[in-house]
Amino acid sequence: MPTHPQSLTRRNFITQGSAALAGLGLFATLPASYALGASKEDKPASSAPQDTLFDVPMKGGFYELPPLPYAYNALEPFIDEETMRLHHDIHFAGYMKGLNAALKKLEAARTAGAFPEISYWENQLAFNGAGYVLHTVFFQTMAPTGQAPSASLKNTLTEHFGSFESFKAQFSSAAGAVQGSGWALLGYQPFGEKLVILQAEKHQNLTQWGIVPILTLDVWEHAYYLKYQNRRKDYIENWWNVVNWDKVEERLTACMKLSGN
Ligand code: FE
Repeated sequence: MPTHPQSLTRRNFITQGSAALAGLGLFATLPASYALGASKEDKPASSAPQDTLFDVPMKGGFYELPPLPYAYNALEPFIDEETMRLHHDIHFAGYMKGLNAALKKLEAARTAGAFPEISYWENQLAFNGAGYVLHTVFFQTMAPTGQAPSASLKNTLTEHFGSFESFKAQFSSAAGAVQGSGWALLGYQPFGEKLVILQAEKHQNLTQWGIVPILTLDVWEHAYYLKYQNRRKDYIENWWNVVNWDKVEERLTACMKLSGN
């Protein structure tokens, strides 16, 4: 089914059955501090980072590690506890540290008025910053099994991808075909008010500017190799069992608000 650039409006999304979401106050979850120019420097890790679209803990102007919103073993048997511990506590934390290091190095360079390693640190900023963002969404948009997308979310995905099954097929194919380390993601493109599926190589390559990630799937080997070895396809297939569809819908709804629809 062809998509229309104006089709994903907040009004359409709500009238497809998401009025209940609005009634639950999800539009109100974006705090006043997210006005343009507001500081995020004093957001503690205890502020439940999964509550809002861009809510991550910050301290002194630097990023902190969003806590896992469920137990390490909560996604068993589809994603094993050991993988989750290594992935969240070591790999995710590594990107956070790399991002903060890049910010500090670039600040020092500005202070010194000299930029001898500018390309290296800009590269680090993009790589680790993209890794931090994608991992934040990845861990937030999973949950213990048993969820199903609401009728309104299914309708929205159908509007943009032809059917819910077509959406899943494109997403799974994109994830399976990532060359080397990377991601598949469902993103909201505010310029055209469209939903798109992207592949990302590493974390930062093959994107569109302006994309807000709604649902992300990590297909770096560190995300699945302990349990699945080289069977990425099996990992992708099983991952659908732990998608937190309520969170996906909440993020999409929040995007509508940011777009002013
Ligand atoms: Fe990862």
